[in-house]
Amino acid sequence: MKIFTTKAAVSQYLSPIKASGKTVGFVPTMGALHQGHLSLIELAQQHNDVIICSVFVNPSQFNDPKDLEKYPRTIEADIKLLEQVNCDILFNPGVNEMYDDNEQWHLNIGETEHLLEGEFRPGHYQGVTQVVYKLFNIVKPDAAYFGQKDYQQFLIISKMVDMLNMPVKMVMCPIKRETDGLAMSSRNIHLSVDDRLHALVLSKTLDFIKDKFDSHDISALKEEAAQLINAEPGVELDYFEIADGETLHTATPDSEKIVALVAAKVGKTRLIDNVMLKS
Ligand code: AMP
Repeated sequence: MKIFTTKAAVSQYLSPIKASGKTVGFVPTMGALHQGHLSLIELAQQHNDVIICSVFVNPSQFNDPKDLEKYPRTIEADIKLLEQVNCDILFNPGVNEMYDDNEQWHLNIGETEHLLEGEFRPGHYQGVTQVVYKLFNIVKPDAAYFGQKDYQQFLIISKMVDMLNMPVKMVMCPIKRETDGLAMSSRNIHLSVDDRLHALVLSKTLDFIKDKFDSHDISALKEEAAQLINAEPGVELDYFEIADGETLHTATPDSEKIVALVAAKVGKTRLIDNVMLKS
């Protein structure tokens, strides 16, 4: 695998590959890679000639400096995993390579930015769009692969791609779970043995709601889900929403796509998860 840490080097390497007509699939990540990330790479490999993964813990998307500081960084292990799945290129820039001092960014992406994750992590999606815009400009991929795990992120980046006419195909990949249902996440490393057990309430509640789902009974289901999660020791619910899959406002019987989304702190670790109820 080729490893690059500068924008110039990665662009220079990719340019003849693209000129020769090969397609480039891109998987942006913040590292601490797990099977969820690798499943994105494997899907990208099925559709593209060359695969590039980026590992960059993006400071501008963290509103809490402590969260940024303790975000897991495991680049040596990440490189081994990427080599095992035959990823072609790793782009692993430092912060100074990606940002100038005091750089400003604002993209008007509408109200979706302020809902759900946006409410609990103000400014998060400005940071996400900022870094993804830069990464897309550097890599110029044919297609980019993102997880359904970050459903709202996928919607917002897709909106940016549409608004700015970026020539990138956005592909959403299914959520990879541990055998007991917990959604894989780089943050799971921080869960204590007890947290790990309590965290299961998130996927169990999503499954329960999926089984019981009836689009006319949304507020009762939301209430039931919140009660189940709040009853779990060590778990503090941020939100449980049954949302329209496009607007992320509470779903209505007219919603064509419906998704249940949850965010909660389990011990000190904030986790998110979701499941499609209608697609
Ligand atoms: P992250 O490194 O957490 O920023 O994630 C990088 C990409 O991997 C994002 O598109 C995530 O949605 C995706 N991802 C994270 N966890 C999973 C998972 N359990 N299953 C599938 N994709 C995931």
